[in-house]
Amino acid sequence: MAKKYNFYAGPAILPQAVMKKAQDELLNFNTSGLSIMEISHRSKDFEAVITGAEAKIRALLGVPENYHVLFLQGGASLQFGMIPMNLLKGRQADYIHTGEWAKKAIKEAKLFGKVNIAASSEDKNFNYIPKAFDFTADAVYVHLTSNETIGGIQWPSFPDTGKVPLLADMSSDIFSRRIDVSKFALIYAGAQKNIGPAGVTLVIIRNDLVEASADNLATMLSYKTHAKEKSLYNTPPCFAIYIIKLVMDWIEAQGGLAAVEAVNDEKARLLYEAIDSSTLYKGTAEVNSRSKMNVTFRLPSAELDEKFVAEAKQAGFIGLKGHRSVGGCRASIYNAMDLDGVKELIKFMEKFATANQ
Ligand code: PMP
Repeated sequence: MAKKYNFYAGPAILPQAVMKKAQDELLNFNTSGLSIMEISHRSKDFEAVITGAEAKIRALLGVPENYHVLFLQGGASLQFGMIPMNLLKGRQADYIHTGEWAKKAIKEAKLFGKVNIAASSEDKNFNYIPKAFDFTADAVYVHLTSNETIGGIQWPSFPDTGKVPLLADMSSDIFSRRIDVSKFALIYAGAQKNIGPAGVTLVIIRNDLVEASADNLATMLSYKTHAKEKSLYNTPPCFAIYIIKLVMDWIEAQGGLAAVEAVNDEKARLLYEAIDSSTLYKGTAEVNSRSKMNVTFRLPSAELDEKFVAEAKQAGFIGLKGHRSVGGCRASIYNAMDLDGVKELIKFMEKFATANQ
């Protein structure tokens, strides 16, 4: 089969080495004679997987001791609700509105308390990350979306929220670059971009937030439950956690987050350079807010966008259609997309530009 280059936004490309390893041991995990999908989540074998995944996450990201690392279900979308449900208790929180995903988080938070929009980039169709904030002194927390997967904008650095805990949806850029976890009180991410398959959500939460969580919640919706039971209150998404463990091994083998970040920087630099030097493609995000994970761009007409996506697909470049809510084109270049893949895409873009000027 001709090589395919996967630019889907999520579920998204995973490292080939991870897929190969999973394939190799699919029918016989750790010489047990059984598949990882067939063994008890209380077995020694699975215990080693989940504690191993947590240990690698802690080491690679530098998660301080006073945080829990949880593997939950319900996607990042459930966290939009779980966060205010556990923490707000009718009080107020600040949200920074940067696009489609922030909007969904805001919608859920309004069910549980008062939401202040501390900053918004709605005035320019969410094509930039705000730089000025109107923070509320007694907000329970500040929430932001580190990378807007649809709009293609990403926080280059994070605001200082003083004593107010900072919470972040990092679904589409976690493990793509180094971060100072201690700046955040809670980080969450659906796995299906940089860390694994759909079905598991990573939540990194500081102890004091767990302790401050509401008590009168359904068991499965309470951070207290999952922190106390170390993500094993009920059956966790075992296979997805196993793949996360393999992805963490892979990141480690790349040289850790600094090495992964350097490659990601170079991939994004080359792709944006190709867009900026062409008259056919136009980047949609403001330069200083450009995402290094989701590169959004447009051609001069919706017809040309469509033609580009279709011909790209024919040539093996899959998933370049922009999100249905905004149109245009989007190349998602997560960790597992290597530099050569991006260079091949650029070659295709140049050829298409020459033929369609
Ligand atoms: N936040 C961001 C930034 C996302 O990109 C997505 C999914 N693409 C979500 C939240 C929702 O994640 P899920 O589908 O896991 O609920």
